[in-house]
Amino acid sequence: MSRTTPPRPLDVEALFPELANYRGTTTRLHPRPGRPEVTASSVGGPLLWPATEPWPVCTEPHSHARGRSPADIHRQRKIRAAAWLREPNPGPTDEERQLLEELGKEHRVQEAAATDPLPLIGLAQLYRRDVPDLPAGPDDCDLLQVFWCPFDAHGPSGHGMLLDLRWRRSWEVTDVQTSPPQPQVVGYEGYVPEPCVLHPEQVTTYPFAGLLPEDLCARIDAWEEAMEEEAEQAADESTAPTAGYQYDLSIPPGWRVGGFASWHTTDPSPMNCATCAIPMHLLLTIDSTEWDGGSGSWKPLEDQDLPTYQSARPTQLTVGRWGELNIFACPEAPRHPHRWSIQ
Ligand SMILES: [Zn+2]
Ligand SMILES: [Zn+2]
Repeated sequence: MSRTTPPRPLDVEALFPELANYRGTTTRLHPRPGRPEVTASSVGGPLLWPATEPWPVCTEPHSHARGRSPADIHRQRKIRAAAWLREPNPGPTDEERQLLEELGKEHRVQEAAATDPLPLIGLAQLYRRDVPDLPAGPDDCDLLQVFWCPFDAHGPSGHGMLLDLRWRRSWEVTDVQTSPPQPQVVGYEGYVPEPCVLHPEQVTTYPFAGLLPEDLCARIDAWEEAMEEEAEQAADESTAPTAGYQYDLSIPPGWRVGGFASWHTTDPSPMNCATCAIPMHLLLTIDSTEWDGGSGSWKPLEDQDLPTYQSARPTQLTVGRWGELNIFACPEAPRHPHRWSIQ
């Protein structure tokens, strides 16, 4: 089943015609729980990785001797999901509560595994044929594979995340690695994805308001304020217009490729390539939720009847404080080091 974004609550270009100059596209990936094939684009699915090539490992030394088992995390999620769907008494039973507590415990791995290089988690793979806004890879590469380390233990702060993105030519992989190494324990359950199939859909998008010309941004702000006032004064709330530039009209929530980054948590910061100094483009957004109360207008038509708790977190990943991770790439040289920002 495909996924369709509902029409926007209003035509923002009719209100601000000059926005047409800044119009872009982004591809919503619409991950949904499933059993992706190794030859499909996916989140948390099997990756098309050559059997003869070493699996990516964490390149920064940090302790990974203690943490939670990925198998426990998957099982805990299954029990919770089933318990909350149970009628007439949703929620875990006493017996389930006990089991959930047991599954939530940390484990210590044996000596060797604690000092060996840590295998990264294969997070996602995207084929260009499936994702209209995925830029061309270097040297005809058609497949982007995304890995991350399941510990917050990197960079100058010692608490940052570590990502590794690889481009490859899918047609060259004949012998696929069928049992890739996996971390025995993880530092945080939000790094462990549930397998999801993707339903890419290209939609229109506009830049974050703070990055538009000052005059245009000020007029959008004024329009939103006027609309809020009108909504407050309206006797019947159901007829009051309720659409905001940030949450309904510009940047969709959820996993997506290309388009514009949102800077709603921090002020916009320039993302220039560390190698050639040119401005980087948004490559991929990894989001903790596909929509929430504030961005509910983006909930696909096919999912309208699903309750939010069941459908808005298909990957079960959590980035930052229930936020999103924006990964930027050099538009000239896709292999230049990526940069990222958490919002
Ligand atoms: Zn690491
Ligand atoms: Zn560059």
